[in-house]
Amino acid sequence: MSKTKPADAVRRLAGLGQRAFGENYVQEALAKQGELADLALEWHLIGPLQSNKCREVAEHFDWLQSLDRAKLIAPLARWRPPARGPLQVLIQVNIDDEASKSGCRPEQLPELAEAIAAQPALCLRGLMAIPAPHADRALRVRAFAAMRGLFDTLRTGHAGIDTLSMGMSDDFELALAHGATMVRIGSALFGARSA
Ligand SMILES: *Cc1c(COP(=O)(O)O)cnc(C)c1O
Repeated sequence: MSKTKPADAVRRLAGLGQRAFGENYVQEALAKQGELADLALEWHLIGPLQSNKCREVAEHFDWLQSLDRAKLIAPLARWRPPARGPLQVLIQVNIDDEASKSGCRPEQLPELAEAIAAQPALCLRGLMAIPAPHADRALRVRAFAAMRGLFDTLRTGHAGIDTLSMGMSDDFELALAHGATMVRIGSALFGARSA
């Protein structure tokens, strides 16, 4: 996760072999992509997405990890340039049911997954969650295990689902132990964020 970090820092990590970078804000990401256009990187958007940003996301990102409502699906598909191939999509789940968090409710998953799968310009790859940072380890494990259950269920109905994105610098080992296939590491790679 390269949010708040300058393009130079991304370039250094890319030089060590890291190819995939995640950003929370479209404008910040586009600025970095411009500075790093000479590198073959894979850009992931992981943040609240408004409908009026769907075009920029479809045109400039490889992955969207935070799709959480049906309204975004048609505009993303419409604006995806065919030459880029399908946009890789993860559905964000609000696994701890926090009022302040983005993400769909688990009950909404089947319908969202169907709607994404119906769009050739989008490729449904799996699920993403940002569990609450509970001090109690058992509660964090419960959230990761619940995500794993949802992921396994979704997989039975959709071929091609292979990605469960969960775990950050402080808890990626726990997430991996509970079935994460992709972790999102920020501060452990880049150092602490000042903001
Ligand atoms: C910043 C961020 C991370 C990484 O957080 P660290 O604790 O710095 O590793 C992971 N996921 C999302 C969605 C983020 O915004």
